[in-house]
Amino acid sequence: MTKKCKRCGLKTVLTQDDIEKMVNEVMSMKGVRLAREDEYMKRIDICAECDSFIYSSTCAVCGCVMQVRARLQDGKCPKKKW
Ligand code: SF4
Repeated sequence: MTKKCKRCGLKTVLTQDDIEKMVNEVMSMKGVRLAREDEYMKRIDICAECDSFIYSSTCAVCGCVMQVRARLQDGKCPKKKW
């Protein structure tokens, strides 16, 4: 059985395909302000080294999928690492 997040009900372990679908959905939303690609890469590199980064996708502090959150211009790290 697939484990689900207690907070949002999504699967806890996402496939690359799941992540790509979420990213594409958010990036195609009207009015979403995105971070520059270099800023996104800087953020996701910091997450990748963080103890709170779990399942290669999720921040254990805020529960967000970082491949999405780090792309948002106003996205923030709850530990203020970026
Ligand atoms: S958002 Fe911050 S706390 Fe969460 S995984 Fe990334 S660096 Fe770590």
